[in-house]
Amino acid sequence: MRAVIVGCGAYMKEGYGCPGEWKCITSASLKKGKFANYDSVELIAFFECNCPGRAVVNNLKGLKKVQDFDVVHLSNCMCGAKLGCPYGNPDALVDALEEQGFKVVKGVHDMG
Ligand code: SF4
Repeated sequence: MRAVIVGCGAYMKEGYGCPGEWKCITSASLKKGKFANYDSVELIAFFECNCPGRAVVNNLKGLKKVQDFDVVHLSNCMCGAKLGCPYGNPDALVDALEEQGFKVVKGVHDMG
């Protein structure tokens, strides 16, 4: 499964100790967490959403033109963090991505 991970850039940049560099990428490389049921995992990209989040859909459409992928994983910090994103909610982003034909999974790792 060729996967792309999208993380919350506000969380990742603001010094909250984003563990995505190892939790998200390690989960993909070890086929754990939300990747556990895939036959295999090839991580195509790991990039940041940036406030207010409007570029995610277009960035993924652009990426798809140069490198095909099968599934988009929205990071745990996008889908489960409290307080959540002030600009939208993960379900709305899932809907917007699915409208463009992307397969979307909420969440990445189960490492806490
Ligand atoms: S728009 Fe929301 S999910 Fe995207 S970077 Fe900003 S706070 Fe994070």
